[in-house]
Formats: sequence, C-alpha cells, structure tokens
Amino acid sequence: MLRLLLTCTALAGTLSLSAQKLAITFDDLPAHGDMPPTVTRQQIADSILHTLKQQRMPKIYGFINALSVQDEPETLGILQAWHDGGNPLGNHTWSHPDINDLTAEKFLADVDKNEAMLKRFDHHGDHLWFRYPFLHEGDTVEKHRAVRAGLLARGYKIAEVTMDFEDYLWNDPYARCSATGDTAALQYLHDSYLQVAEQYMDANRKLAQQLFGKDIPYVLLMHLGAFDARMLPELLNLYRSKGFRFVEMPKALKDRHYRTDPEGGDEGGGSYTELLMSIRSMDTAEKEKPYAKLEQLCPDGAAAVHDK
Ligand SMILES: [Zn+2]
Repeated sequence: MLRLLLTCTALAGTLSLSAQKLAITFDDLPAHGDMPPTVTRQQIADSILHTLKQQRMPKIYGFINALSVQDEPETLGILQAWHDGGNPLGNHTWSHPDINDLTAEKFLADVDKNEAMLKRFDHHGDHLWFRYPFLHEGDTVEKHRAVRAGLLARGYKIAEVTMDFEDYLWNDPYARCSATGDTAALQYLHDSYLQVAEQYMDANRKLAQQLFGKDIPYVLLMHLGAFDARMLPELLNLYRSKGFRFVEMPKALKDRHYRTDPEGGDEGGGSYTELLMSIRSMDTAEKEKPYAKLEQLCPDGAAAVHDK
C-alpha cells in the first residue's frame, strides 16, 4: 500500500510538472546588442533559427524594430529568414522608443511606422501582436489607457511577458570577452546565465502563485543577441528539465489570467505579473543579478566589438 501511495505521489508530481507551458519570444529583430568581432547579425539569427528547428519548437514570435533595417539594410535578410522558417513577426515599434518619453499620439505613430515592414511578410494579420519596448506600458494611467485603446483600435493584442531574467545583460560582455579570448570570463558568463535563468524561472512562477494561486502558461522574453544564440540549446534543455513544454505564444496568452489590463501607470514597467503585483501593492522579492560584474567584465575587448 505504502509503495502504491509513493508511486502515485511520484506520478502526480511528474504530471503537475509536465503541465507547465512556456511560450518563447524574441525581441529586437533584426539587430540587438554588441557582437564578437567575427560574428554577423545574420549568423546570430541563423543560429537561433537552426536551434528552434532542430529542437522542433512551435512557431516562435519575433518582435521587430524596422528602423534597424533602414540603418543596416542587409538585416532585411534576417526578417526574411525568420518568416521563411515559419515563425511570425510582431510589432515592437519602429524605433524602440521609451513610452515614458513620448505622448500617447507620438508613441502610436511609431507603432504605425513599423507596419509597412510587417505587412511585407504577413498577409494573414498574424503580426497584430504588440510588445512594449523596455516592458514600459505607460508612466501614467492616462497614457497607459490612451496607448492601449489605440493599439486595440488598430486590432493589436498585447504580447504580455510573464517569464524574464534579463537575458540581454549577457550579450555585450560576451562580445567583449570573445574579443579578448578570456576563457575564464566566458565560462562565468555561461554559468551565471543559466543560474540566473533558473532562479528567475522559480521567481516568476512564484509571482503567478501569489497572484492566481497556481501556475499559468508563461511567456518568456528573449532577445536576438549573440550570447542568446549560443546559449539557446542549453536554455531550452534547462526549461525542459524543469518540466516545461513549449507552446505558441497566442495559445499561452489565451489563458483567462491574462485578461486583466495592468493599468497602474508605472514608470519602471515590468512583466505582466510584476505590474499586477504593483497595482495590488503586493511585495515582489527581487533576486540578485550580477549587474556590476557583467558590466565590468573584459573592458579591453570593447574596442574590437561591432557596435549596436
Ligand atoms: Zn526591445
């Protein structure tokens, strides 16, 4: 009997773990962050697309800023490759402005300016998903409401984020440390990236538990950076080992727990769950991140990296 009970408990544990759903998304296509001297932006995108295909991932949304194509015309090939790989493109504004610095009208004009590029690749309306730059949704309630109303009137749905570990922090130091060939520093980047991802996996699940009393399908924010490309196979394995299975973003965001508008008016922004916590004056226990160390790593490599 005891043995049977133990087996049932173990099975229940496995089932509840295997039910965790995660949608992965990438921001800042086609150009994000610094690059090691010998790497091109196309190679970064190709590497990510290769991993997604190899690991049989569902369709992955990439959120674009078309200004980058104007600045670096060859990066148009990245959007084409993303689209050709069967992955949809969404709107992340044309120039990646901070909503805190603009009026609602000017911000929405920047959203509109991005549409011509999105429509080149989308004839079915799949691009009508919007991701706020910096996860800033409006520094006042009035601006939040005006922008949200403008987005909804244009047919957009909001691509909220509920899983985030600030993956982008590792891309610039990776470029510098690759340039100097500092193997100890590169090992540190590798280990700390996975460590922080794991810590925040738990921390983000805890936010959902506090708000909803349960797990929800999560949406992970990633960026199209050089180190993200390198770490993606291991990162996907990490999530799998923790019982997550991958789903398409629109499917995750259909969950009823995403129906609340987090209209607090919050200058600092944050993930959907962080914004809801803030509105409800609930405490979020911040985990430590090695901001200072990442910033100071491999200063001698700075001259050799491609700039943003
Ligand atoms: Zn962005």
